[in-house]
Amino acid sequence: MHEHYTYKNGNLKTKDKAYVWHPYTQMSDWFRIDAPVIVRGEDFYLIDDRGNRYLDGVASMWCNVWGHSRKEIVDAIVEQAKVLQHSTLFGLCNEPSIVLAELLVKMTKGMGKVFYSDDGSTAMEVAIKMAIQYWYNKLGSNKRREIIALENGYHGDTIGAMSIGYIEHFFKPYKPLLFKVRHVPSPYLYRKSREMSDADYVQYCIDMLEHELKRGEGRVAAVVMESGAQIAGGVIVYPDGYQREVSRLCKRYDTLLVLDEVATGLGRLGSMVEYIAQDSMPDIVAFGKMLTAGYLPLAATLASDEIFNAFLGKYDEGKHLFHGHTFTGNPIACACAVANLRLYEQERLISKVKSSSALLAERLEEFRGYPIVGDVRHKGMLAAIELVKGNSNSNSKSNSKSKDPLLTLSDGRRINYAIMEEALKRGLFIRPLGHIMLIVPPLAIGREELNMLIDKALEVVGTISKLV
Ligand SMILES: *Cc1c(COP(=O)(O)O)cnc(C)c1O
Repeated sequence: MHEHYTYKNGNLKTKDKAYVWHPYTQMSDWFRIDAPVIVRGEDFYLIDDRGNRYLDGVASMWCNVWGHSRKEIVDAIVEQAKVLQHSTLFGLCNEPSIVLAELLVKMTKGMGKVFYSDDGSTAMEVAIKMAIQYWYNKLGSNKRREIIALENGYHGDTIGAMSIGYIEHFFKPYKPLLFKVRHVPSPYLYRKSREMSDADYVQYCIDMLEHELKRGEGRVAAVVMESGAQIAGGVIVYPDGYQREVSRLCKRYDTLLVLDEVATGLGRLGSMVEYIAQDSMPDIVAFGKMLTAGYLPLAATLASDEIFNAFLGKYDEGKHLFHGHTFTGNPIACACAVANLRLYEQERLISKVKSSSALLAERLEEFRGYPIVGDVRHKGMLAAIELVKGNSNSNSKSNSKSKDPLLTLSDGRRINYAIMEEALKRGLFIRPLGHIMLIVPPLAIGREELNMLIDKALEVVGTISKLV
């Protein structure tokens, strides 16, 4: 049905290897890896230059909503590109950025203003600068400058975002550049750092946060965390009530709450705005990834009126927010986001996500039977299957499984490469976090494709379980 794509200008794979440096990639391995060259996207599939089709099991890095080439969104991009591609928000306004800001403020029920940037990392940098300067503007000094964040958090790859979402394994070489942040435990129940019941461990996490807030009273500027779940840190879904308790502590200790909804907001966990579902109003919140349906780079940091008002004053007081990017409020990206958010309404996407999520939950049970599956975590349209060394003794009960991460296979392959290779062979693209297999489908995926995705992922786990 589809024509095969050939290029007269030589082999693209060879040229990729000659010229392109890939993100988070050991490039000496990359030279040996046969990664497809994607030339087209069609619904929930990516199509390579030989006409092979791959189900997009990572939603193209967790941001795709409708699948690829959705007409309404493509049209919005094209129409906007015809009239105004870019001007600037430094001294000028543009229509798409205004329309989008109104939609976002109404959606968040509590935020007052929208500040635009280009990606999740910069949206979080803006959030951090807002939080620090809020106190500076109010107190006339940097007395409140400490930040508390959660272990296993991830907020992006710029210097500030790395400081807050510090992951030793990723960021160790950059440590001298990073500023000091107090990290408290997050409720990773599968890998509790202490032997206690789940409920006691959640309380322990809360208590540790309260301890830090008390210790730093009068000096802490903000608590910063992902909203609803930590994703890059291993898909750690917060237990019910945890985030609400954090937000209460922030109020009690008069500290700002900065929430990162870059990956978890806009439907990924089953709600448009995750903090509303979690009953935990922040002072500042960032959105990114799915804002443009995964088609263009755009992110937004929203602040409450209380935050915004602290930046008002006489010009010479210098209270304004000293931040902005060349493409802040880009009209094409904003028009794309407006079309996207309107489609959420028209297609009642959130209720569709709820029913897809129920199907996903049901089918995820099928993974638990494998000895190498240590834990299965799920919320909304996000799932993680944590692979462990399992049992050498197949008679032992599953609850006595070893929790040692499964890192290499008997054929010598690293687990993350093996997962990707085995999936690609079956027409599925997924990218795990080390030994944690992720399932992050485009939000609007149909039942048929979702079932197919799970079938293929099960085959991958089945194949891998024979190679331990
Ligand atoms: C992806 C991500 C970011 C960073 O977004 P980029 O667009 O990659 O810069 C920030 N926070 C969270 C929670 C993310 O998942």
